[in-house]
Amino acid sequence: MAESEVDLSKKYDAVIIGSGAAGGMAAHVLTTHGLKVLMLEAGKKLNIEQELRSMEWPYNNPHRGELPPGSQSLTHNEYTIRRPPYGPGFEKSKNLYSYIGSSDYMKNIVVNERDNPYTGTNYAWVRARCLGGKTNIWGRLALRLSDYDFKAKDRDGFGENWPISYSDIAPYYDKVDLYLGITGVKENLPYLPDSIFQRPTKFTCAEVTLKEGIAKMGRVLTQYRAGVTTDGLKHNKYRSRCYGRGACSRKGGCDIHAAFDSPTGLIYPAMDTGNMTLRTNSIAREITVDPQTGKASGVHFTDSQTMKDYTVRAKVVIVAASTLESARLLLLSKSRLYPNGLANSSGHVGHNFCEHIMGPYVAGQATDLVGKPPTLDDGRPGSFYLTRFRNLAEKHPKFIRGYGFEGGSGSSMFPPGTDNPGFGASFKEEIRKNQGSYIGMGAFGEVLSRYENFVDLDPSVKDKWGIPALRFHYKFGENEHNMAKDMKETAQEMFEAAGFKIIFVSDRVLTEGWSIHELGTARMGDDPKKSVLNQFQQSHDVKNLFVVDGSAFVNASCQNPTWTIMALCWRSCDYLADQMAKNEL
Ligand SMILES: Cc1cc2nc3c(=O)[nH]c(=O)nc-3n(C[C@H](O)[C@H](O)[C@H](O)COP(=O)(O)OP(=O)(O)OC[C@H]3O[C@@H](n4cnc5c(N)ncnc54)[C@H](O)[C@@H]3O)c2cc1C
Ligand code: SF4
Repeated sequence: MAESEVDLSKKYDAVIIGSGAAGGMAAHVLTTHGLKVLMLEAGKKLNIEQELRSMEWPYNNPHRGELPPGSQSLTHNEYTIRRPPYGPGFEKSKNLYSYIGSSDYMKNIVVNERDNPYTGTNYAWVRARCLGGKTNIWGRLALRLSDYDFKAKDRDGFGENWPISYSDIAPYYDKVDLYLGITGVKENLPYLPDSIFQRPTKFTCAEVTLKEGIAKMGRVLTQYRAGVTTDGLKHNKYRSRCYGRGACSRKGGCDIHAAFDSPTGLIYPAMDTGNMTLRTNSIAREITVDPQTGKASGVHFTDSQTMKDYTVRAKVVIVAASTLESARLLLLSKSRLYPNGLANSSGHVGHNFCEHIMGPYVAGQATDLVGKPPTLDDGRPGSFYLTRFRNLAEKHPKFIRGYGFEGGSGSSMFPPGTDNPGFGASFKEEIRKNQGSYIGMGAFGEVLSRYENFVDLDPSVKDKWGIPALRFHYKFGENEHNMAKDMKETAQEMFEAAGFKIIFVSDRVLTEGWSIHELGTARMGDDPKKSVLNQFQQSHDVKNLFVVDGSAFVNASCQNPTWTIMALCWRSCDYLADQMAKNEL
């Protein structure tokens, strides 16, 4: 959409900042309610059809899928040894990307770290500045939270309970399932509620062996619950059903949009209502406030290309810039009325920052599959999820909360084992013989939400647009490190129970941020002294301000957050529309 189509003299019903999972969902719900909405997105509108090349063969790519010369993505050691913003050693790289930007398919999606610096403790901060944000490249594991998460404090005494229960959000999870599509298998687990699933994917032989092996231990392996429509969605003309083809695991998205992404799943349909205006290349730098009423009055933003500044007015401001950028924006929005930043009378904005710890991993081999005919296992939008088993019925002596494993096996375009030693015909023979037999899995565990883990604004470093950078004060604690040791031990024990030959096992913890599941910087709660938002993600201080992304989470649970972000956002936007109709905002 061109700039001229945005009427800056007009007062919109709502302005939405950000176009990812949260912003897209807000747009869908509010435009359906008939509100006139403006969406401001900091990044560009990509030609998504060209960008998501899940059917491109590596030999058709100029660099076999790797980044072009002059571009570099950060490695684990670079995150842990060097401190951002990046200095010596990176001079040759004009474009510097987060660790996830290591392929040619991501270079236009993730940010150039040079333009978007941050400081403080080590953190692998992955950001996608483009229409749709990180949903263009997300891994699609779509899990629900349960009362084991919402009421975790009742179980172990740590932190705070959420101001909602599962029964409050369950109908909204259902709406998200039906509107966007999800594949999986029902398991009837109280700690991982089922969705309304479409056609499931199939396990490989090694996965069936693992499922049966761990069932004896009372543990559950289920099909990857992917935010992918396998049966199709009659109400969405922009998305096809999954044909189980292509390099699905290639970071860079699904070219037929069977996998959910915010542009085709939410934003294009919202624009089709005629109620939405989109302005990309628009970086919100401050939420403006009416000094008379103390309410939000609109947004001050900069055009990322022309560097020109604008202000737009709205009756309601909806912040959906992703957990860390939303906290940054609230902290940037200082005024005489709100000297600590907007919505921050509690002092909790930026605090209670939490996510998932990653790293512990096991790789093994189902030796009975060596030499068996190859199977076609590419084109599955995910393999398996091994559900949480710690601190459910029993208490672990060394840590609270839990973790799950994501993993996979089977024959694929780049068979596992190609990094084994060897050369020529005998090497190829070795790869062919072994390829379908490898299996691996890695853990994702809950990082406790602690006040002392926080972000604030750096007093001197600014981004390319002169906006103060975010500064991290964030470290894993003892609970996380104890959990990581247990992850390694149980991973090994389960592979042994399945009869696999263990090839590799590690308890190495990856840099903070590696999970890309940042949460909690403006948490919900009933007490305005200890929380930023109420149960509808509405600011306690400023009633026409809503923060509808992962910022609102009270704890991280160990389940991936995106489906919950969207269910919460839907619930909050229904409430918002209702309040607006009653003139309560
Ligand atoms: C490789 C990868 C794999 C992942 N796998 C999974 C998974 O399997 N399951 C899962 O649940 N989650 C996964 N995630 C996380 C998931 O992508 C996020 O939880 C989700 O996208 C969050 O949505 P959001 O709207 O909060 O943020 P985003 O999707 O990041 O969108 C935020 C948008 O706001 C824009 N923005 C930021 N600042 C401003 C500003 N100042 N002004 C205007 N616009 C702004 C950004 O440009 C961006 O487009 C993964 C992420 C990645 C990158
Ligand atoms: S397997 Fe399905 S979701 Fe994955 S790229 Fe292919 S069509 Fe898309």
